[in-house]
Amino acid sequence: MNLNSDNKVFPSGRVTQKMPVLFLGHGSPMNAIEENEFVEGFRNIGKSIPKPEAILCVSAHWETRGTFVTAMESPRTIHDFGGFPEALYKVQYPAPGSPGLAVNVKSLITVTDVEPDLKWGLDHGSWSVIKHLFPQADVPVIQLSLDYYKDPDFHYNLGKELAPLRTKGVLIIGSGNMVHNLPMVAWDKFYSDNYAFDWALEASERMKNYILKDDHKSLIGYKSQGRAFELAVPTPEHFLPLLYALSLKDEEDDIIIFNDKAVAGSITMTSIKIG
Ligand code: ZN
Repeated sequence: MNLNSDNKVFPSGRVTQKMPVLFLGHGSPMNAIEENEFVEGFRNIGKSIPKPEAILCVSAHWETRGTFVTAMESPRTIHDFGGFPEALYKVQYPAPGSPGLAVNVKSLITVTDVEPDLKWGLDHGSWSVIKHLFPQADVPVIQLSLDYYKDPDFHYNLGKELAPLRTKGVLIIGSGNMVHNLPMVAWDKFYSDNYAFDWALEASERMKNYILKDDHKSLIGYKSQGRAFELAVPTPEHFLPLLYALSLKDEEDDIIIFNDKAVAGSITMTSIKIG
C-alpha cells in the first residue's frame, strides 16, 4: 500500500484550485465559546475558502525538541489551559486525523526529520479557531509541532517545503498572535475596544507593513528590530506560526488582513489570508 499516493490521502479530489494559507490570531481560549467580532471574522474567512480535503495547523501551543506531526486517526481535544469556566473544558472538536497526510508531510520535509506523533491531538491553538471555520468538524486536521530549539530561519525554510500541499487541497494554518506579551496584559482593559500599548501598536503597524511589502527577511530577523518588537515577541512561539504562513506566499497571492485589533494592550488578533 502506498500511503503517499494522492488517491489514498486525498480520496475525494474535490479541491482542484490552490488553497489559500491562513495565519490566525487566536487570543484567549474563550474565543472558542464566546460570540464576538473575532469569532465572526473567523467564520467569514471560513466561508470565503473552498472546503479543504484536510487542514495542517502549526499552533503556538505545541513546542517540542525536534519536529513532530500528529498521525493518529482520531486526535483528542486538548484543554491546555487553566482557570477558565467549566463550559470551555466541555468543548470537544472531534475532527478526524489523517495518518496519510502525516506520512505525506514527513516525506516532503528535507530540512529535518519529521517524526510521527500518536499522543498529542488538537490543542486550543488549533481547535479554538478551526471550530469557527468548520463547525461540523468534518475536515481532517493534523498538527505540526514547533521545534523550540531552532532559529526563525529554520521555521521559515521548513514552511516553504509544505508548499506542494496547497495544490492538494490542504489548508495550512499558522495559529498564534503577532503581538503577544502575556505578563504585560492589562486585564482591566480586556473588554476595551482595540486597546493597545504604544509599543504594541508600533510593532503591529511595522509587522503589517513588512507583510504587505513581502519583506519576510525583516520579520525572520524580528530579534534585531528594536524595543517594540522585543516587547511584542518576548518568546517566539506565538510569532513563529506567522513565518510558516508567510513562507508559503507565492508572487501571485494577494493578502487580506482581518481581525486587526489589539486586546488588553499587549496582544493583537491580527490575522491574514494569503491567496
Ligand atoms: Zn496562545
